Amino acid sequence: MAGKEEKNNLIRKDGLHVIMLCMTLIPMLILGCIIVTVTANRFNKALNTEISKALEDICGITLRTYDLMYPGDFNLIGEDEYVFVKGNSILNNQYEIIDNIKEQTGMDISIFYYDTRVLTTIHNEQGERIVGTGCSTVVFQQVYQRRRPKFYPKVDIFGTQYFSYYTPMYNSNGNIIGMIFAGRPAESVKKQIAMSMLPIVLLEVVGTIIVLWICTTWTGTLITHLMVMKDFLKGMTDGKLDGDIDLLITRRGDEVGEMARAMLHMQTAVRNLVEKDTLTGLRNRRYGNIKLSEVQKKAESRDGEFAVAIGDVDFFKKINDTYGHECGDVVLKTVSDTLARGLRGRGFAARWGGEEFLMVFQYVNGEEAEIILNAIRNDIKILSIPYEDKIVRLTMSFGVIDGRCNCSIDELIRGADENLYYAKTHGRNRVVRVIPEEDSDAVE
Ligand code: GH3
Ligand code: MG
Ligand code: MG
Repeated sequence: MAGKEEKNNLIRKDGLHVIMLCMTLIPMLILGCIIVTVTANRFNKALNTEISKALEDICGITLRTYDLMYPGDFNLIGEDEYVFVKGNSILNNQYEIIDNIKEQTGMDISIFYYDTRVLTTIHNEQGERIVGTGCSTVVFQQVYQRRRPKFYPKVDIFGTQYFSYYTPMYNSNGNIIGMIFAGRPAESVKKQIAMSMLPIVLLEVVGTIIVLWICTTWTGTLITHLMVMKDFLKGMTDGKLDGDIDLLITRRGDEVGEMARAMLHMQTAVRNLVEKDTLTGLRNRRYGNIKLSEVQKKAESRDGEFAVAIGDVDFFKKINDTYGHECGDVVLKTVSDTLARGLRGRGFAARWGGEEFLMVFQYVNGEEAEIILNAIRNDIKILSIPYEDKIVRLTMSFGVIDGRCNCSIDELIRGADENLYYAKTHGRNRVVRVIPEEDSDAVE
C-alpha cells in the first residue's frame, strides 16, 4: 500500500518526474525529428544528383555505342509500316545494345523518335516491350521542344515510378530527331535510402532510450529525496522533532543537499526553542514531562527500573534578595550544570519551574537514585559561586521516589514532591526517599 502510494507520488501527472521527462524527452524527440528530416533531405538531394549524373552517363554511353556500331543518322522511314534506321542499319527489334547496358547497370533505356518510343528495355505487365508508346507532354515540351536534357525524380511509366533522365538526340545536320531516356526504378532507390537512414533512426531511438533511462533514474532519486524531506517537514509540523534525514541526502552537493542541511539546522533551532529552558539550557517542563512518560513506558515494557526526583534550591529567595536577581540567575545556571553533570549516563534533569528541578533516572532504582542525589547534593553544598566580589553558597533539598509503583506520572511527581516537602520541613539540605512511618500521616 505504502509502496503503491510512493510510486503514485513519483508518477503524479503534475509531478516533477513527468515535468522532467517532458523537459528532456520533448526537445530530444524534436531534435531527433529535425536531424532525421534534415539528413534524409540532404541524403535525398545528394542521391538525386548522383543518380542524375549516372543516368546522364548512361544516355551518353548508349548514344556513343549506337554511333560506333551503326554510323549515320537515326531515321524513321516507310509509310504503312515504319522502319527505324541508323545510317544503313535497321534497328527494329535490335535490342542487344540497350539490353546489355541494362544488364550491366540495372538501368532501363528507351530511344524516342520524335515523341515515340522506338527501342526500349521496359516491358508491360504482359511482358511485351512498350515500343510505340509516347512520352508525357511535359517531357516532350521540356526536353524535345526546348532541347534541354532534364532529370525527373518521379516519372510514372506504366505503373512503375522511375528516376528519369531525358536527353535530346540530334542528327548530323544538328536537327533534333528524338530523345534518349535512362531510368532507374524508384523502388530500388527507396530501399537504398531506407537502408542508409536506418542507422540514424536507430541511433535516435537508442539515444532516446538512454536519455529516458538517465532521466528516470535521476529524477526518481531526486523525487525520493524530496519526498523524504517533505515527510521530515510534515513530521516537524506534527510535533515530531527527533526525525532524521538520510546521510545520502544531506551529503548531496547540490541545492537539495543544502536544503536538507538547512532543514536539520532548523530542526535543532526549533527543538531548542520548544524543548529547552533558555536560562539553564536544561530541558523545559513540557519536554521533561514528555521524556518522563517515555522513560516510564520503556521501563514498563522491559520491566526496567527508574526513579523520579524533584529538587529545590534552599532559601533561594534570600539569594535573590541579598545579591540580586541576576546573581540568582547565575546560581540557577551553575546548579543546572551541576545537576546535569551528576546525572550524566544515569538520566536527565529538567527545569520544573523557578528554582525547582525534575530529575529522571533510567535503569536506576529509588535507592540508587538516593545515593546519586546525595552525591549531587554534596557537590552543590561545596559550590562556591563567585558573583562580582562575593562568593555565593547554597544547599538543595530533594524528594525522590522509585518508579516501579504502578503510579501515573502525576502520582510519581506528587510522591517526589511530598518527599521534597518533608525534606524542606525537616532541615533542608537533604534527600528524602521514604518518609518515616511516624511522620507519614502528618504529610498526608
Ligand atoms: P525554600 O527553601 O522553602 O524553597 O525557600 P525559597 O526561598 O527557595 O522558596 P520561595 O518559593 O520562597 O522562593 C523562590 C524564589 O525563586 C522566588 C522567585 O522570585 C525566585 N525565582 C523564580 N524563578 C527565578 C528565576 O528565573 N531567576 C531568579 N533569579 N529567581 C527566580
Ligand atoms: Mg526553594
Ligand atoms: Mg520552590
